[in-house]
Formats: sequence, structure tokens, C-alpha cells
Amino acid sequence: MSRYRGPSCKICRRAREKLFLKGAKCYSAKCAIEKRNYPPGQHTGSGRRLSEYGIRLREKQKLRFCYGVSGKQIQLYFKRANSQKGQTGHNLLFIFEKRLDNVIYRANLASSRQEARQLVLHGHFDVDGEKVNVPSFLVKAGMRITVRKKSQDLFKSRFAAMKGAETPAWIGYDSKLKEVNILQQPKREEIDVPVKEQLVVEYYSR
Ligand code: SF4
Repeated sequence: MSRYRGPSCKICRRAREKLFLKGAKCYSAKCAIEKRNYPPGQHTGSGRRLSEYGIRLREKQKLRFCYGVSGKQIQLYFKRANSQKGQTGHNLLFIFEKRLDNVIYRANLASSRQEARQLVLHGHFDVDGEKVNVPSFLVKAGMRITVRKKSQDLFKSRFAAMKGAETPAWIGYDSKLKEVNILQQPKREEIDVPVKEQLVVEYYSR
């Protein structure tokens, strides 16, 4: 199952909630959920009840679409999370949060994860001084992320906006060095994706 490339707003409408996939538009009156908060398609039946399986499947899909990964990748992440110590659901979210594209988004260097993914793919960042252009690269505490020299001009307005912007406590920003620092492991309460991770665990444990 490859990465979804269709219209992002359809995903929100199907889930009937905002998943904030498109940056600034999500906070404006142009948001499709604000205008048409019903599922797409003619025969969707707004009152249709989901089965227990359907509820878990929907939660898994929400997680997948929020972070923009393929079905295969989320399966691999689940296996990894399940083999780690601690709660599998939390471990799963921590893996997603530590993806380089998500860190770029969280640090306000991009307005959405989709944009962050593009920026990483185009090779605009160094991690600990080495170019990394893999969105799924997982960061660790102590790592430093910088915009590459040749791309600095592209990020001028971003750097200015980052000074007063909020970031989760596990991500630091040094405005003098223009450097994003990974300070620690994320905590569950710092992750605001609207997903019930326990249902995702139950989906894969069935
Ligand atoms: Fe979802 Fe954003 Fe589209 Fe609104 S604008 S429906 S939050 S992707």
C-alpha cells in the first residue's frame, strides 16, 4: 500500500474531523470541514454506524494520513514499537514524532508535514553536519538540524517567524546559530495528533 496522493481534505471529511494536513488553509474559513462537514461521495450515509473493526481501521488510517506514510511503513513502525519497552501505542507515536519531516514541521520550518517532506526530499537540511534527504530518518536526543548553506535564503522568513513561535519542549531552537536541537524524547502529552493510539494497537493485534 503506497502513500496516499489524493486530495487531503477528503481524508478529513471522511474522518469528520480536522487532521490539519494543509498548513495555513486548515486554520482559515476555506477549510473543507468548516464548509462541508459530511463525508465525500453521494452514498456515504451520514448516520452509518461503524463496526468495531471499522473504528480501529479508521484510527489507523488517521494516524497514517496525519504523518503521510504508507500502509507498509506504519506496519513496520508497529512491529518496532511492539518490540520496545513501554506502552506500544506511545512507542508508536514517538517513532512518528521523531521522523525528520515531522521535526521540521514541529520546529515551524514548514507549515505542514507535507511541505516538510518536500523540503527534506529536496535536500535542504543537515543533521549533525551531514546532508539528510530522507523524510523517515529518525532523530535522536542530542542531534542538531540546520538548514544547508545554499538554502539559507529560502528560509529567511521562516527563521524570523520561528523566534516567537511555540515548539514542543523536546525541540529547541537556537536563533543565533539557526539550529534546531533535539533535547529529549517526546512525551505523550506533547503529541497533539487527534488519534487514539490504543485503537491502532488493537487493530494490529487482532
Ligand atoms: Fe483538513 Fe486542513 Fe483540508 Fe481542513 S483544510 S479539511 S483541516 S486538510
